[in-house]
Amino acid sequence: MPGRLIVIAGPSGSGKSSIVRSLVERIELVYSVSATTRDPRPDEVEGVHYRFVSRSEFEAMIDAGDLLEWAEYNGDYYGTPASPVREANSDGFDVLLEIEIQGARQIRHHRPDAVMFFIVPPSMEELRARLEARGDTDRGTIEERLRIAASEMAEAPDLFDHMVVNDTLERAVDEIEGLITAPS
Ligand code: ADP
Ligand code: 5GP
Repeated sequence: MPGRLIVIAGPSGSGKSSIVRSLVERIELVYSVSATTRDPRPDEVEGVHYRFVSRSEFEAMIDAGDLLEWAEYNGDYYGTPASPVREANSDGFDVLLEIEIQGARQIRHHRPDAVMFFIVPPSMEELRARLEARGDTDRGTIEERLRIAASEMAEAPDLFDHMVVNDTLERAVDEIEGLITAPS
């Protein structure tokens, strides 16, 4: 039986990366390594966190139809290489994508069978606190990111199969694990 495509999306700071890290330790999932044109952060490893490519390499991938979805986010390209997903799915493995919302829209369109989760902060106040605590200011001001979060949260119920509140990490991961592993 082919594997499923599982998508995790949500506003910046909602806890996507934290959730994905925990989920891949708990259940057998192939994490899809995206291509991006942004610079690696100090702890990031080529081929593990991302495939780091130039803009011209990325544009060649778009032109060749090598990407399942792609988007421009904060001035850089991000995209999901299609063939590793196709191969893992056809070998029966579930594949996990952690992507932003423009890419999630494309997946909904091309792969209506995808199981799509949207991660929601418990409140806007808590989202603000987590963004401030994380302390990275490279993706625009906190106000701007809260404004984008509110508009994404308004659209999400129509696009996603499951809205999961990231109140405590443990509970949110339990909920997603339960939904993924439930017999269909
Ligand atoms: P995203 O990948 O969606 O941008 P992160 O996983 O980086 O979000 O989480 C944003 C910040 O919030 C991080 O500092 C993370 O440690 C913290 N965080 C994530 N989930 C929780 C939670 N359930 N409770 C408290 N803090 C959290
Ligand atoms: P970061 O630069 O913080 O690693 O990621 C920025 C945003 O890009 C996050 O919302 C992340 O989920 C998203 N992202 C990462 N990889 C992809 C991808 O392959 N496609 C899309 N559409 N978004 C991605």
